Amino acid sequence: MIIQCAWCKEIVGEKEPLQDKRVTSTICPECFKKLKKEIEERKRKEKKTPPGKTQIAGPKSSQGKG
Ligand SMILES: [Zn+2]
Repeated sequence: MIIQCAWCKEIVGEKEPLQDKRVTSTICPECFKKLKKEIEERKRKEKKTPPGKTQIAGPKSSQGKG
């Protein structure tokens, strides 16, 4: 099988069965680095949410009832 990077479409290598010429996609180390960077940047942007979260506490469970 042919191992191809799904991002840059570069052939990374081959794996068994070698006679099988189907393409299996993976991510090469270079694209992985880029993707990681992108995710980190996106996370930074997402952090810009206004602090207005209100948590609703449920009723306290009392023990020893009966
Ligand atoms: Zn790649």
